[in-house]
Amino acid sequence: MESGLKGKVAIVTGGSKGIGEAIASALWQEGAAVVITARNAAEVEATAAKMREAGGKVLAVVADMTKETDLQQLVTATIQEFGRIDILVNNAGIIDTFGPVDTITVAQWRWIFEVNVFGVVALTNLVIPYMQQQGGGRIINISSENAEQPDPMMVHYNATKAALNNYSKTLSKAWGKDNILVNTVSPAFIKTPLVDDLLEGIAKEKQLTVAEAAKQFLKENRPNQVLGRPGLPEETAGIVVFLAGAQAGFITGGVFRVDGGSVGTV
Ligand code: NAP
Repeated sequence: MESGLKGKVAIVTGGSKGIGEAIASALWQEGAAVVITARNAAEVEATAAKMREAGGKVLAVVADMTKETDLQQLVTATIQEFGRIDILVNNAGIIDTFGPVDTITVAQWRWIFEVNVFGVVALTNLVIPYMQQQGGGRIINISSENAEQPDPMMVHYNATKAALNNYSKTLSKAWGKDNILVNTVSPAFIKTPLVDDLLEGIAKEKQLTVAEAAKQFLKENRPNQVLGRPGLPEETAGIVVFLAGAQAGFITGGVFRVDGGSVGTV
């Protein structure tokens, strides 16, 4: 069965690198036109240029998830360029700070909620009317294993991703009547710049190589991760393509783990 993505239009936030880049790349390879966003103009333009050279219909838009005017511009630019929005992948997200629960300040809590939750809500609110007018759409929110299995060193991040899971379920209930299907994908320990930064920090602190730090992190912090290696961004993109495509027409309100077994519960 074909994915049915030919001619569809997708926005992928945080599409300049990591998981977002892999998702954008997989979507255009299935024939979708893709709009990728990030704050760093040079990086997002370079990623879009690379995809265009390889044959993709890709537009880069510089947008900060915490600025509603940027998000409005993103939607306007998408409509101007491609005329519709069929798929929204809310992928941009940060961890920002690590530390014991009582060291994370309220300002740090507020900031991570601005990016990981309020930005998603603001963009989704802007996109929904287009999907309603078009007779449907797909929204895929990139959450984390931390939503279900909180890490004690990332209390504020855990909470943003739990909020995102709950928000996704609510959206799926609200907009099913308009044929807008909403699902959550929850990755864990995927080899991206975000995880590279985390491992480099651990390696430096504990005087280990990055490979040793990865092994130790898995052993001590993720004992249920049975595959014993980081996942690849491409291994996260596949489920997103599936959820955006024709074969997923009866799937909404779900949470799909891409975590090498990391979440220990059923
Ligand atoms: P990454 O490599 O750090 O990439 C993050 C992307 O988001 C970049 O394009 C970044 O570009 C963009 N971004 C960050 N802050 C932004 C903001 N304020 N406004 C707009 N764009 C912003 O991260 P990743 O590992 O691919 O993670 C992608 C998503 O997966 C995140 O939501 C993360 O929480 C989730 N996740 C990742 C893992 C993992 O193991 N990697 C595990 C669980 C969940 P700019 O910095 O230029 O803005």
